[in-house]
Amino acid sequence: MTNTAPRVRFAPSPTGHLHIGGARTALFNYLFARHAGGSLVLRVEDTDRERSTSEAVRHIIDGMRWLKLDWDEGPEIGGAHGPYFQTERLDIYSKYVAQLLTSGKAYRCFCTPAELSAKREAAQKAGQPPKYDKSCRELPAKAAEQRAGSESCVVRFAMPETGEIVIDDIVKGEVKFQAGLLDDFVIMKTDGMPTYNFAAVVDDYLMEITHIIRGDDHISNTPRQILLYEALGFAPLPKFAHMSMTLGPDGARLSKRHGATSVMEYKEQGYLPDAVANYIALLGWSPGSTQEIFSHEELIAEFSLERVGRSPNIFDTEKLLWMNGEYIRKTPPAELFELVKPYLIEASLIADDMSAAEMAYAEAVVALEQERLKLLPDIVDATRFFFTDDYAYDEAAWQKIMTQEHVPEYLAVLKDKLAAVEPFDAGSIEGLLRGQAEERGIKAAQAFHPLRVSVSGRMQGPSLFHMVEVLGRDRVVARVTRAIDLLK
Ligand code: GLU
Repeated sequence: MTNTAPRVRFAPSPTGHLHIGGARTALFNYLFARHAGGSLVLRVEDTDRERSTSEAVRHIIDGMRWLKLDWDEGPEIGGAHGPYFQTERLDIYSKYVAQLLTSGKAYRCFCTPAELSAKREAAQKAGQPPKYDKSCRELPAKAAEQRAGSESCVVRFAMPETGEIVIDDIVKGEVKFQAGLLDDFVIMKTDGMPTYNFAAVVDDYLMEITHIIRGDDHISNTPRQILLYEALGFAPLPKFAHMSMTLGPDGARLSKRHGATSVMEYKEQGYLPDAVANYIALLGWSPGSTQEIFSHEELIAEFSLERVGRSPNIFDTEKLLWMNGEYIRKTPPAELFELVKPYLIEASLIADDMSAAEMAYAEAVVALEQERLKLLPDIVDATRFFFTDDYAYDEAAWQKIMTQEHVPEYLAVLKDKLAAVEPFDAGSIEGLLRGQAEERGIKAAQAFHPLRVSVSGRMQGPSLFHMVEVLGRDRVVARVTRAIDLLK
């Protein structure tokens, strides 16, 4: 029985953090694999020895783990098609380079960098494309092999002079290239390292990759890779899906100047991983409905390459921020408390070792503010007044609310009533305030706002009655007393 479950791969070059673009490639591969019950391979393309670092491998793995994108084969878990670092597969590439040399589909090139750049310049002056002039392609293979013993050389692919390569891309449709326009590109460098196009093909074949899902900045590599598949006798070809690029709001390719680009920066800023993954999923993929919030499981269930669009997509930080707020609201309160706790401790608003009562208070405070948080660290400013008497009164709020004529006398009465009301809960507090409004013939707002400003220093916040209940009688009475004194 042949195994028809798809196998896909995410193949980052470890030269930096996991960026939004890379995370999207990883996510789409992951969703495709999980949706189809297939496998995701993580392969580290580290043949650029100068730019690849082990920290970058760490960053990429951390980013994927944070987004909950697990892989079935690759670093940290192994698998049947390893090793999964290209620098550990050099013998394999050498073997296939030898095969191409023997079959005459590749050749050694001894041109020095200086010669090559002179040739490029000459071609440019003559108004021709800066392609390699293929001079070494004419060298007899035996002689070239001998020369290679003492001289450094690269190995080039002997590009067919004619023919058309047609890619039937799942996203882009038919894309055609003329072989005659392509260069005899290098497949192995002087230091024995394979180039990306070559190593990727050998690995994609040996790792039995069935679908190659990647950014369309790679589409011009695809004809070269297809020709390599053919030259190496690798069949069948995988299917290709090239996703359009993500742009910033100004239409330029997403980059640093559009704000955070690394996934872990979003973690630092207090985004939730599910919100980020949900948002990234919508960069180019659309579910075919107006639904925007998708749980991890829903994304897996709904995802299909057929619904990945052809036009570029725009990264909109405002939308991501909105989505994060939605996710914060959906988080079970106890879980949210654990997530915001470090920020409250950091701001010295709560202690690491709280008593049961302090803990219950802190949890109630966080639950009250849950509705309005967009980012986890928002919790600090939103809740400061719950934990300390050292909070500022908003200038505008004080001017607008506290300088009204009725306020000093009203607060004095309210203070006594708050000291006595039983039970001290949202219901009785609401009754008390509404009763005052009615008795005094003032608007509800005129009865509510002075209390709100007194106990929180601001005009906006959670439901006043619940907020007052959570703050508790002692704090509330003390704060109203303080406001009365300030008004004198
Ligand atoms: N290492 C390549 C990159 O990070 C992989 C491209 C591919 O998916 O083939 O761009």
